Amino acid sequence: MLALEGLHVLVTGGSRGIGAAACRRFAGAGAVVLVHYRDRHDVAESLLAELRAVHDAPHLGHAADLADPAQVGALFDRVEREWGRLDCLVNNAGVWEPDALARFDVDVYRRTMDVNVLGPFLAVARALPLLRLSQRASIVNVTSTAGQRGEADHSPYAASKGALISATKSWAVELAPGIRVNSVAPGWVDTDMTAGPLRHDPAARARIESQIPLRRVASADDIAAPIVFLASELARHITGEILNVNGGSVLCG
Ligand code: NDP
Repeated sequence: MLALEGLHVLVTGGSRGIGAAACRRFAGAGAVVLVHYRDRHDVAESLLAELRAVHDAPHLGHAADLADPAQVGALFDRVEREWGRLDCLVNNAGVWEPDALARFDVDVYRRTMDVNVLGPFLAVARALPLLRLSQRASIVNVTSTAGQRGEADHSPYAASKGALISATKSWAVELAPGIRVNSVAPGWVDTDMTAGPLRHDPAARARIESQIPLRRVASADDIAAPIVFLASELARHITGEILNVNGGSVLCG
């Protein structure tokens, strides 16, 4: 178990899936967590109750649409008011909508770019003064194998994750030496986002599993563990890294 006592962490999209698994791991290791979410208040509240039972600390919940600069501003105003600093920002929230070029939908494109790219940019820009007050500051961006190899019929999503990978490398240099910036790039993960193929279509799931060398789809916790590692002192000499977590299905780096 990693010791992260007193680390103050904000996880965007922390209410469900990979983000919720990361919140559980952070709290279990002694961190204080802000669970950010868009609008599913009940889901976030029930996770917060779980976190408080594991580690009694001033964990927070906060709703904000990451595509809205004013709401992102209010999110970090809250962090400043309640915690006074931030040690780790996990840019995890994201959307994955199909948008085949033959039926290109500009609204899907804009929504995808707003949440997956503009959101992290707004968050990092506003978090900077708070991260600069920390002695162990880091940012972890959740990207995707799609951002490295592309994804047919989801090209806006793939482009959005490619943009976040480039941003990770740019920010790693721009914000050094005080703030480390890394990314975890998952392959298939069993969450609400992928419920269509992974939970409701056994044939699709079997096909996906057969293409993964480790012959399994990742759980949310399989991705949360490397996120927590990158935020920890164990990764103190790592910055600008894109850590692929995909069971060997796409070997890129
Ligand atoms: P889920 O769909 O399970 O959860 C998405 C989270 O993001 C929720 O907390 C949701 O909040 C929040 N969110 C969505 N839209 C917005 C928005 N506009 N503003 C603020 N918050 C928002 O996703 P996963 O856990 O599967 O994915 C997490 C990350 O991992 C994403 O960036 C995704 O692209 C990436 N990823 C996922 C893979 C997978 O196979 N699942 C594969 C590769 C990468 P609320 O609960 O309020 O709706």
